[in-house]
Amino acid sequence: MLGTGTIPLIGYQEVAFGVPPSAETALADGLPPALLDLLACIGQVALQRGQPLYLVGGPVRDLLLRRPVMDIDLVTEGDAVDLARAVAQRFGGQVSAVSQFLTAKVRFPLWTVDLATARREIYPSPGALPVVQPGSIHDDLARRDFTINAIAIDLTPARWGHLLDPFGGYGDVQGRLVRILHDRSFQDDATRILRALRYEQRLGFALEAHTCYALKRDRGFLDTISGDRLRREVERVFQEPMPERVLGRAHDLGVLGSLFPGLQWGEEHRQALIRWREEGREVSPLLFLALLAYPLSLERAEALVRRLRLPRRWAEVVRHTLQAREIVARWASPPRPSQVIESLAPLRPEAVEACAILSTEQAHRQTLRAYLDTWRSLRPRLSAMDLLALGVPQGPWVGRLLAELRARVADGLLATEEEERAYVRRRLHTLKEEP
Ligand code: ATP
Repeated sequence: MLGTGTIPLIGYQEVAFGVPPSAETALADGLPPALLDLLACIGQVALQRGQPLYLVGGPVRDLLLRRPVMDIDLVTEGDAVDLARAVAQRFGGQVSAVSQFLTAKVRFPLWTVDLATARREIYPSPGALPVVQPGSIHDDLARRDFTINAIAIDLTPARWGHLLDPFGGYGDVQGRLVRILHDRSFQDDATRILRALRYEQRLGFALEAHTCYALKRDRGFLDTISGDRLRREVERVFQEPMPERVLGRAHDLGVLGSLFPGLQWGEEHRQALIRWREEGREVSPLLFLALLAYPLSLERAEALVRRLRLPRRWAEVVRHTLQAREIVARWASPPRPSQVIESLAPLRPEAVEACAILSTEQAHRQTLRAYLDTWRSLRPRLSAMDLLALGVPQGPWVGRLLAELRARVADGLLATEEEERAYVRRRLHTLKEEP
C-alpha cells in the first residue's frame, strides 16, 4: 500500500494510491450537469437491457487531469448499436456512423456521444488491421495503446463513478507518464509510436523508460503501416496545438527518419518557427508538411507522395515547396516585386511560407515576407469593367492588361488611378500590333 486509500475497482485487482481519486468528483467537476444527467439516463437504459456502461479512454484521462473533455466515448458490454437506437428513441437523439465494429454515434441537440461494444483485438501480423471480436470491458481496456487511455469510469447507476484501472493508468496520470500496456505494443501497431509522442508533448508527460526503449527499438515497424493509416496519424500530429514539439521529439528519437528517410526537424526548424510565431504569423497544419518536404530531393519528394498516398492538396504542397525553393535559389540579386509575384503566385502559400522560414539567406526571407504580407494581395485600382469602358476588347486582353497593371503597381511604376488609365490608353495603341 502506498498510502491512504484504495480505488474501488470492479472485479479487478485493487490498486492503491497516495490520494484516492474520486472519479465521481472528477465527473461532476469536469462535465456540465445536463450532460451528466444525459449519461445517467443512458446508464439507466443500459442497465434495463442488462448492459454495463462505461466512460472510457481520452475523456477519462482528461477528466482525471482536469483538462477540457473533447469527446464522450462510451463502451458497453453487449450490442452498442441496439443500445444507441434505444437511447436515441428515448431521449430524442439521432443515430449515425454505425460501423461493422459495433459502434455508433448518437447526436443529441447539444452533444454527440460515441457508443462502442467492448471488444477484444487480435493482431494477425505487425501493422495489419486487428481481428475484432466482442469482449468484456477488461478486453476493451487491454487492447488500448497506453495505460493513461486504458481507464474506465463506470456509469451504471449503482456503481456510478467507480474507476476501472487494471493497468495502473491513474498512477501514470499522476506520474505524468506515457506507458505501453505490453512489450510488443508498437510492433502490433506502430501508429502508436506517433500517438505516444503526441500525448507526451500535448500533455507535458514523459515516455516511461521501457516504453521509450521499445519505441526506439520498434520504430522500424512503421514500415508495416499502410500509407493511408500513416498519413492519418501524421495529419493528427499536424493538428496538435504545437506540432513542432512532436516533430522535434520524433526527430531526436529517430522516428522521423523511420517514418520516411530524409525527414528532419532540427534545432534550426525550432528556432525559425519560434521567430515565425513571435512575428504573430499563422501556422497552418499543412505548413508542417511543407517544412518537412523543404530539404528533400525531387525523387524523395515524389517517393513521399507515394508512401503516404498524399491527396491532391497535400501533394501540391510538397511539389510547390520544392518549386518555390528552386525559384528562390535562382535569385542572384534582389528580384523586382513583379518577378516575385509572377513566379510565386501559382504556388500554395504554405510552400512560400516554408521558404520564408527555412531559407538560409536573410535577404530572401525578407523578400518572401514582403510577398506574403503585401505584394501577393496587390491589385490595380482599375477593374476589368474599367478596362472595357476604356475600350479594351473583351477576351484575353482584359486579363493580360490587368496582370501588366498589377506588375507595374507592385514595382511602384503606377502610383495613381490616372497613371493606370494613361498606361491602358498607351497600350491600346500598341495592342493591334501584338498577337
Ligand atoms: P485525442 O484527445 O487525441 O482525440 P483520444 O484519446 O480520444 O485522443 P482517439 O484517437 O480518438 O484518442 O482514440 C480513442 C481511444 O481509442 C484512445 O483513447 C485509445 O484508448 C484508443 N486507441 C486509438 N487508437 C489506438 C491504437 N492505434 N491502438 C490502441 N488503442 C487505440
